[in-house]
Amino acid sequence: MQTTKEDMNNFMGNFPSSEFADGTCYIVGSMAIVGVVNTNDGLVIFDLGIKMQGSKIFQEVRKFSDKPVKYIIYSHGHFDHCFGYAPFIEEIKEKGWDMPQVIGHENLLRRFEKYRILHGYHNWLNKMQFSTRGAQMPGDIVSAKETLDPTIILHGNENYEFKLGQYTFEVYHDMGETDDGLWMFFPEKKVLFTGDLVMNPSYPNVGNPNKVQRYPKHWAFAMEKMLEKNADYIVPGHGQLIEGKDDVKDTLSIRAEAMHFVHDEVVKRMNEGKWFPEIFHEMLEIEPEKFKNHKFLKPTYGCYRFAIHATYRLYHGWYDSGNPTDLFPAKADDIAKEILKVADETKFLEQAKSLFDEGKVQLASHLLDVIIKGSALENETLLEAYKLKSLSLKKLKIEEPAFIAKNSYSTGISELKNKIRELKRKLK
Ligand SMILES: [Zn+2]
Repeated sequence: MQTTKEDMNNFMGNFPSSEFADGTCYIVGSMAIVGVVNTNDGLVIFDLGIKMQGSKIFQEVRKFSDKPVKYIIYSHGHFDHCFGYAPFIEEIKEKGWDMPQVIGHENLLRRFEKYRILHGYHNWLNKMQFSTRGAQMPGDIVSAKETLDPTIILHGNENYEFKLGQYTFEVYHDMGETDDGLWMFFPEKKVLFTGDLVMNPSYPNVGNPNKVQRYPKHWAFAMEKMLEKNADYIVPGHGQLIEGKDDVKDTLSIRAEAMHFVHDEVVKRMNEGKWFPEIFHEMLEIEPEKFKNHKFLKPTYGCYRFAIHATYRLYHGWYDSGNPTDLFPAKADDIAKEILKVADETKFLEQAKSLFDEGKVQLASHLLDVIIKGSALENETLLEAYKLKSLSLKKLKIEEPAFIAKNSYSTGISELKNKIRELKRKLK
């Protein structure tokens, strides 16, 4: 099932905030979802969003209730979930209220530390990952220079339960997208706050090509634990509220099934002594139709192809082809230069054009890379290769449903645009 513009808009949180569960709860539409519960003794807030949306989030929350914030729970330490706190803290200081309790997993503190070490790297990486949204993300996308750290830290698989006003809250740890995941159940109104363990309607973000290891099997177990709660609502990490027992059940069970499937099928093939390329292409052939066509499992952000990588990488090192040539390869440019000694650029360009015309765009791109990497001459043939590569990437981008992969194509297209401009100038 394809991702629609509406899915993407919902995924980015472009929808109005609203009350639900008899007016007890509130969902704030923002890049990462903020969930609020109103109790007699104050507010419980699940996640705080991205830093630059902090004041928007604050204003939205204050439309719902003016009570003091008593608890903040971090679903995990990603930059879009726990950095919008500044206006809330300002208000607390202004009104002389007590600071809230902040609940996080112990691994979240390690994550913040990692962000501080890798500050420049993460900014560079995220600008590419979110390149089509670049205009909305000026300056430091990720900054953990300042953080609102947890006051209540959950260790290992510990659960935590607390009461506020007339209500109870259960907080659980599960790995999935991250190793610092927490989710919350609010039993009196049967609401699950999942963080990124549920992105609506996206396939789990497992195997993101730019990011560290994620956990497909643990993700399935998390979904099964949530299913036991028999909830009426899901406040997801991204996207619209999910309402009604059937949709809640459907959302969780299809994720559990999809994660078990991809994990177990990749592991089965690893046990058969297969290398990654063979596993990957076999997995593409056996992808069940019910996953492809499920309304709660669209390849909006994560996708099945990424999940195959995630599972393999969970258990395997970086040498994945089984061909010793690939173990310590020569420079790609040198390889291409040697190939071009066998047949020159024009031959490769000709073949790339006919592959492109046949719709074999991926294959065409591989051939064009030989010219682009190996050509010693800055001439019309190279210019044509750049242009055809750019067209190929545009075609791949249009056909690509997954946001992250789409943005990788965008980055490639804009780099080629610069190269084309520069070469045209030289050839004048
Ligand atoms: Zn997120």
